[in-house]
Amino acid sequence: MNDFKGLTAIVTGGASGIGLATAKLLHSRGADVAVFDLKPDGLPEGIVGIEVDVTDDSRVAWAVEAVVERFGQLDVVVNNAGIPAIGDITGNSDAEWLGVLDVNVVGMVRVARHALPHLRRSPAAAIVNTCSIVAWAGMAQRVLYSASKGAVYALTLAMAADHVREGIRVNCVAPGTADTPWVDRQLNELPDPEAARAAMNAFQPAGRLVTADEVAGAIAYLASPLSGGTAGTVLAVDNGMHGLRLRPP
Ligand code: NAD
Repeated sequence: MNDFKGLTAIVTGGASGIGLATAKLLHSRGADVAVFDLKPDGLPEGIVGIEVDVTDDSRVAWAVEAVVERFGQLDVVVNNAGIPAIGDITGNSDAEWLGVLDVNVVGMVRVARHALPHLRRSPAAAIVNTCSIVAWAGMAQRVLYSASKGAVYALTLAMAADHVREGIRVNCVAPGTADTPWVDRQLNELPDPEAARAAMNAFQPAGRLVTADEVAGAIAYLASPLSGGTAGTVLAVDNGMHGLRLRPP
C-alpha cells in the first residue's frame, strides 16, 4: 500500500479524468503529489495543485522548481495533459495542428526537460507518458490526434533509450476509450448522447469503456519500482481493442 512512500510525483492534466485518478492513486500509496493543470481546482486534500499551461515553458520551469523546493526531490513525472482533435486530413488548419502538437507532444517535452536534472538524483526515477492506442491502431476522423499520440509513442522510445542508463525509466500507457469528462464532452455534442454512449459501449471488446482508475493503475505500475526493468514499453489499457480495427463511435 505504500509503494510511493518517500517519493514525489508531478501529474500533468491531473485535475480531471485519468490524471486525477492517477494523482489520487499515487497519493493514496504514499507519494507527495503535485498536479499541473490549467485549472487545478477541487483536488482532494493533500494533493498540491499548481496552475500550469504545459505550452508555457517558463511557467513549467518555475513549477518544477517549486515542487522540488516544497518536497525536496522529484522522482516521478506523469505526462498526461492532452487535448482532442477530430477530423480527417482536411479537417484541421495549420494553427490547429501546431496547437494540438504544442500541448500533446511539446508539452511533455517541456515537463520532462525541466524535470530531468532532478530525476537524475532519484533512485526511483520514472516518466510515464499518456499515449493512446490510436498511435498505432488507426482511427478514422482522428488524423491530428493520432499523429500527436504517435509522436508520444516515439518520444517515449527515444527518451527511454537516452535515459535508461542513468536510471530514469520512460514508458507509456495507451488507453482505449476511457470513461472521463473528455468522452462526456464529445458525446454531449452529438444529437443523442445516450444512444451514442450505448453504441460506444457496444463497440468495446468488453462491452464497456475502460475506467480512469484502470488507466491510473497501469500508470502507477509503470511509475513504481514494481516495473523495474521496463523502459520504452507501451502498456495498452483497452480490453484488447488495439487488436481490432477502430471505427469512430
Ligand atoms: P480530461 O479532459 O478529463 O483531462 C485532461 C486534463 O488535461 C484536464 O484537466 C485539462 O485541463 C488538462 N489540460 C489540457 N490542456 C492542458 C495544458 N495546456 N496544460 C495543462 N493541463 C492541460 O481528459 P482524459 O480523458 O483524462 O485524458 C487524459 C489523457 O489521456 C490525454 O493525454 C488524452 O489524450 C489521453 N487519452 C484519453 C482517452 C480517453 O478516451 N479519455 C483515450 C486515450 C488517451
